[in-house]
Amino acid sequence: HYQRSAVEAASRGFVGGKVPLGIKRKGLRIVVTGGAGFVGSHLVDQLIARGDSVIVVDNFFTGRKENVMHHFGNPNFELIRHDVVEPLLLEVDQIYHLACPASPVHYKFNPVKTIISFFFSFLVDFVFLCVFLVVKLATFPLCFGLHKTNVVGTLNMLGLAKRVGARFLLTSTSEVYGDPLQHPQVETYWGNVNPIGVRSCYDEGKRTAETLTMDYHRGAQIEVRIARIFNTYGPRMCIDDGRVVSNFVAQALRKEPLTVYGDGKQTRSFQYVSDLVEGLMRLMDGEHIGPFNLGNPGEFTMLELAKVVQETIDPNAKIEFRANTADDPHKRKPDITKAKEMLGWEPKIPLRQGLPLMVNDFRKRIFGDHSDSNP
Ligand code: NAD
Ligand code: UDP
Ligand code: UDP
Repeated sequence: HYQRSAVEAASRGFVGGKVPLGIKRKGLRIVVTGGAGFVGSHLVDQLIARGDSVIVVDNFFTGRKENVMHHFGNPNFELIRHDVVEPLLLEVDQIYHLACPASPVHYKFNPVKTIISFFFSFLVDFVFLCVFLVVKLATFPLCFGLHKTNVVGTLNMLGLAKRVGARFLLTSTSEVYGDPLQHPQVETYWGNVNPIGVRSCYDEGKRTAETLTMDYHRGAQIEVRIARIFNTYGPRMCIDDGRVVSNFVAQALRKEPLTVYGDGKQTRSFQYVSDLVEGLMRLMDGEHIGPFNLGNPGEFTMLELAKVVQETIDPNAKIEFRANTADDPHKRKPDITKAKEMLGWEPKIPLRQGLPLMVNDFRKRIFGDHSDSNP
C-alpha cells in the first residue's frame, strides 16, 4: 500500500498531504481507522459518495466486514486488516482516527489495550502513564487492549500524520467529562473522571489521546481536529454490545425485558449517526481545531428512553431493573453552541425519528433477513 500510494502521489506531482497551489485535485486520499465499525462505516459511505479515495484500517475487534462490503470492487476503496498499535506507512491527506473499542462490554474486557495508544510520547507523559499503568495492571489485568489502542494507536497515527503532513482528526468522547459537575457540558469544562475506576481505561485513554493530539499540534505543527462525541445510535451498531440503545432495541425485538440499570433516572443525550458524520466532516474540513462537542442536546432519562423504545417497537415490553455499574455518570448533555457558531453544525434528527431507522436494521440482522445489507 505504501509503495502504491507513494507512486500515485508522485505521479500527481506531490508527496505528502500538502497540495501545491494551482494543482486541482479530484478527491482526497483519506484513512479512516476503525472504518469497519459503526460510526466509521457511515463516515466512509459519505467520503466515498463525495468522491474521495478511502483506506479503511481496522483489526475487526468490534467492526465487521459487512459494514463496508458494499464498497468492495470500488477503485476508490481499500480495506486493510491492521492493528493501529503497530506502525503503519501510507501516503494520505487526512486521517480520521476512530479505532477504539467503544462499547463498555468490549473496553471493560480489554482495558489496557484501550489506553496504551498514547504511551510513548513525551517524558512527562511517559512517567505519568507508567505510574498509571502500574496501577491499572495491578487492578485490571484484562484492561490491556483499550489503553494500547488509545495511546500507542493514536501515537502511531499522529506519527503518520507528521511524516506525510496529513490533517488528523481524533474522535474523542463525552466520557472525558466523567461524571460531570457542570450541566450541560461545555468544551471548557475539564471534567470529573475517576482515574482508577472501571471506566477509566476508556475515559483516561481518550483524555491522553487528546493530550497527545495537542502535543503533536504544538510540537510538530500537525494540523489536528478534536471531536468529543456524545452517545450516538443508528444502523450497524453492534448488537449486544452493552450500550443502552442497542440493548433496549434488541431486547424489545426479542420480547425480552428492557434492562434499566440503577433507578433509570440518569440521563444521556442521543444523536443519530448521520448527524455525527456530518459534524465530523465539517470539523475536518473547517478551520478550527476544537475540541468540539458533537451530540444532540435532547436529553432523556433511561426510563424515558425505555418508554420511547416501547412506543416504537412493543408497547407491552416489560422493564426490569438491574444494579448499575460503578462510576456511571448521572447526567450528560452537550452544549453545542461552539459547534453551531464555528462549524455551522447542529443535529437534525430527533430520537423519535432516528430510532425507527435503527430498528429496521436490527430487525433484519436479528431475524436473519439480509435483503438490504446496506442500511
Ligand atoms: P465501534 O466499536 O463500532 O468501532 C470501532 C472500530 O475500531 C471497530 O471497527 C474496531 O474493530 C476498530 N478497532 C478497535 N481497536 C482497533 C485497533 N487496535 N486497530 C484497528 N482497529 C481497531 O465503535 P463506534 O461507536 O463506531 O466508535 C467510533 C469512535 O467514536 C471510537 O473512537 C469511539 O470512542 C468514538 N465514540 C463513539 C461514541 C458512540 O456513541 N458510538 C461516543 C463517543 C465516542
Ligand atoms: N509512525 C507510523 N507511521 C508513519 C510514521 C510514524 O506508524 O508513517 C509511528 C512510528 O512507528 C512511531 C510513532 O508513529 O512509533 C510516532 O512517530 P514519531 O515520528 O512522532 O516519533 P519517533 O518515531 O520519532 O519516536
Ligand atoms: N444502561 C441501562 N441499561 C442497559 C445498558 C445501559 O440502563 O441495558 C444505562 C447505563 O447504566 C448508563 C446509560 O444507560 O447510565 C448509558 O449507557 P451506555 O453504556 O449506552 O453509554 P455511556 O454510559 O457510555 O454513556
